[in-house]
Amino acid sequence: MSSRIEEFQPLRDNEVRMYACGPTVYDYGHIGNFRTFVAVDLLYRFLRQSGYEVRYVMNITDVDDKIIRNSARDGVSVQQFTAKYETAFIEDSAMINIEQPKLVRATENIPQMAEFVSRLVEKGLAYRADDGSYYFRIAKFLQYGKLSKKDFQGMQDGARVAADEYEKDSARDFALWKAPKPGEASWESSIGPGRPGWHLECSVMSMQELGESFDLHAGGEDLIFPHHENEIAQSESLTGKPFAKFWFHARFLLVEGEKMSKSLGNFFTLRDLVLKGHKPSSIRYLLTSVPYRNQLNFTIDGLKQAAVSVERLRNFRLRLTAGNFADGSNAAMQTLAAETVARMRAALDDDLNTAQAQAAIFDMVRHANAAFDTGDIKKDDVVPLLAALTKFDQVFAVLDDDDAAKMKRVFDWAPSEGRDKDISDGLRESAQSGKLADADIEKKIAEMKSARASRDFKTSDVLRADLAAAGVLVEITKDGIRWRRK
Ligand code: AMP
Ligand code: ZN
Repeated sequence: MSSRIEEFQPLRDNEVRMYACGPTVYDYGHIGNFRTFVAVDLLYRFLRQSGYEVRYVMNITDVDDKIIRNSARDGVSVQQFTAKYETAFIEDSAMINIEQPKLVRATENIPQMAEFVSRLVEKGLAYRADDGSYYFRIAKFLQYGKLSKKDFQGMQDGARVAADEYEKDSARDFALWKAPKPGEASWESSIGPGRPGWHLECSVMSMQELGESFDLHAGGEDLIFPHHENEIAQSESLTGKPFAKFWFHARFLLVEGEKMSKSLGNFFTLRDLVLKGHKPSSIRYLLTSVPYRNQLNFTIDGLKQAAVSVERLRNFRLRLTAGNFADGSNAAMQTLAAETVARMRAALDDDLNTAQAQAAIFDMVRHANAAFDTGDIKKDDVVPLLAALTKFDQVFAVLDDDDAAKMKRVFDWAPSEGRDKDISDGLRESAQSGKLADADIEKKIAEMKSARASRDFKTSDVLRADLAAAGVLVEITKDGIRWRRK
């Protein structure tokens, strides 16, 4: 709100209450959407790593102008239409290791929304139009424009806009509640039949879940105006209290140097990229490689680079867990690990500077790999080096090697949507690489055996956990080690 970087302090003790505007479930999510959702996921993970208890709520917008238009086009009910894309959103989020927030749905909170409108009307802040729609009277909120820093001098009192999304020069009284139109979904309510406007949804659900004042509200930069401006206006004028203390907006990404758009052919859903054979972990890594506030240029080359980076980190971890080291410790390695942890923390503490945190871990990997080659990593250095990697991964979440299983799911899904023709050789190979994956499993089992033979049960446990994360159950019997897929 202040347009300055401020020290983060929650309103209440150690608890952070945060709300992110979620997807409008009318299509598969694109990488722009996921740029924002991954940025918020990173924030969520980092706040927890920093010792806060975080209550994180996200809405699913399951009724709005676009949904109504597209479900009518497809000849299905709003509910049938949105259920499909909500499921896809949850699956896609899991595919790129987004931890699921508490999800709340607009259509499950309609009575509360009608109630909110009545209270605004009682206070003279909203009015009913002739068709039964309700509008918020922005002239009543003198601070209107305080988030977007736009000057609304001379705007016309009483002029109205019914659409959920609109440009800044049409700052008008906006629709809180829309009267039913023929063929549109509508609900009976205490203020008459109709459906909520998008802005109202988020105010009602965020305050219901987190209280009238909460710590942080997030979304993509396009939401600053009108969506968040309108949320502030209706919430603060009703409660008389500040709404969200901090605002977090992710910058829109470019794709191959241009604004992403279907007409330019640079529009990608997450599934489009996996169909092309890219790993979910590469996508996540690339999306986090530029701090949320800076412009990220998403390119296919960048994605290939990201894959190499993730591979390097995974190989390094494998080297540490599977290697044999001489007894003792090397002060240089101990310092390296400690300094890396401190550098990562300082970077993320600085308005989530993800690029610098990544630079810190790669410096560590470079130095430690060199030390590995010259035998300068000792047994007692393994734990602190692994701990630094774990700290990194608690936030970045790319180390677990579970891409193949996730890609297989996209491979299996493709025919159901007529996308089989888009399956690349890369995806086909990865999805059908049962043999290769078996070889990888056997390799890890062999490493487990040799670790156990030298009574290094810690390494054995790490390997076993890796296998479990990849869906492989390992059974250790007195006759040896057996495994099977879950
Ligand atoms: P929507 O599903 O359109 O409501 O958008 C869901 C989230 O994605 C919102 O927070 C948007 O601000 C964000 N978003 C949409 N397009 C982009 C983009 N190109 N880059 C970054 N974030 C985006
Ligand atoms: Zn919202």
